[in-house]
Amino acid sequence: MEKQNFWKISEPLETTLCRRVSQLRRLRNLTLEEVSERTNFTVARLEDIEAGLETWLSATDRQKLARALTVDPPVLQEVEVKPRLEPSADPKRWQAILDDLTESILLGARELSCPQCGNTLRCRVQEGLDINENPIFFAKAFCQKCPFTLK
Ligand SMILES: [Zn+2]
Repeated sequence: MEKQNFWKISEPLETTLCRRVSQLRRLRNLTLEEVSERTNFTVARLEDIEAGLETWLSATDRQKLARALTVDPPVLQEVEVKPRLEPSADPKRWQAILDDLTESILLGARELSCPQCGNTLRCRVQEGLDINENPIFFAKAFCQKCPFTLK
């Protein structure tokens, strides 16, 4: 049986998934088409990964891509970033997340995590009066680490 050849990497590895994948592909002298054949990913998907649009991989996909690039899966995993939702990426889902946060805050939750960066949100309920002078409650939250606010 042929010994698996995990070639030495001759330069410091890039620190983001997109740049590391593209770097490894170059070091291995592989075209996008060749990686596509080895992984069964489409070339378009590989381009997305190298453009930084896909920032993390499922365990199965990671294994396929790592094998294609002849590295161990953790070499990819260590630079993966779990996506945080951008409002413009999926407005419907974003609104659902905001509604859910609002409801949780009004129900008394105070330890919620920011949908954009994952850090703890500062949450509070603000009281007000509607036009008929009935008390109404507003959920407010802001993130201490990123520009996210709920108001
Ligand atoms: Zn945040």
